[in-house]
Amino acid sequence: MVLEEKVADEVEECSDPHKALRMDPNQQAWSRNERFMKTKILHKNDVSLRLLIEGTNSAFMNTLRRIMLSEVPSMAIDDIVIIENSSIIQDEFLAHRIGLIPLRTDLDTYNLPEDCSCKSEFGCNLCRVSLALEVEAEDHRITVYSGDFKSDNPAIIPVSLKIPLAKLAPEQKIRLEAYARLGKGKDHARWQPVSAVAYKFVPIISVDQNLCDSCGDCVKVCPKNILIKTGNKIEIRNINNCTLCRDCVHACQKDPKAIDVTWDKNSFILNIESTGALTPERILHEALKILNGKLTEFLEKAGKEIEKFKV
Ligand code: SF4
Ligand code: SF4
Ligand SMILES: [Zn+2]
Repeated sequence: MVLEEKVADEVEECSDPHKALRMDPNQQAWSRNERFMKTKILHKNDVSLRLLIEGTNSAFMNTLRRIMLSEVPSMAIDDIVIIENSSIIQDEFLAHRIGLIPLRTDLDTYNLPEDCSCKSEFGCNLCRVSLALEVEAEDHRITVYSGDFKSDNPAIIPVSLKIPLAKLAPEQKIRLEAYARLGKGKDHARWQPVSAVAYKFVPIISVDQNLCDSCGDCVKVCPKNILIKTGNKIEIRNINNCTLCRDCVHACQKDPKAIDVTWDKNSFILNIESTGALTPERILHEALKILNGKLTEFLEKAGKEIEKFKV
């Protein structure tokens, strides 16, 4: 069967054509599974998202991961004017701590300073938010928290109000003005919208029941309790939690091994853990938009160059 026919067959097989990404059938070097992309949410809450992505390769996954880390903008404090600091923490340490506070980010209202029409070094209401901190310990020791900041925009506040910044002894005082703006992780880690983003291959575990004597050695060494001994059989549960450590294979004394652990090189589990600045789905969406923009720009520029060589 020629490749185009195989592609046509697979398009009909796919239950949800909107989730299927058709690749160029001339890309014969790609494996069969790589020509269709399917995604499924495995877990989601306010700050984390776990996705199963099938029909792609590690080059695409790593591109997406790196864009989420370094190019999706988020809001962080960038400039601080310290008016008074009589605490024992030096101004530089205090400024560094404040810069790393994750702030709730509004990408629909604010511009990156380089894209803002104000073109001002000091910024404007569309590219900068001002937050003031004024705390004084009167007659007893107190802790200064991220929640003590008063923001110009009530939507742009610290993700957590309980991040300790300093301790003040009686009569000590901190008074400062901080300015937050959008930035990118590639310039400084304070603008990274993710605390972690990682992917792994989807595990494939097989147990040869003809070779296996149910000794249970593989069950004992598995750190994730993936393998369960049920009667005379070894069963596999929650396979997506497998770390691919292969300890179970090494524990098996049979020759050849009765258990094997491999992975599907075209299927991935992607974990996105947000700092809370943006939702994980927004981070993924922005990363895809950025990637799309880069590819569109490349297509336009390469297209113009190719046009020049046409007769
Ligand atoms: S590879 Fe590691 S985590 Fe996976 S089943 Fe084997 S021992 Fe468990
Ligand atoms: S260690 Fe090997 S023989 Fe023993 S239960 Fe596991 S797969 Fe079967
Ligand atoms: Zn501006």
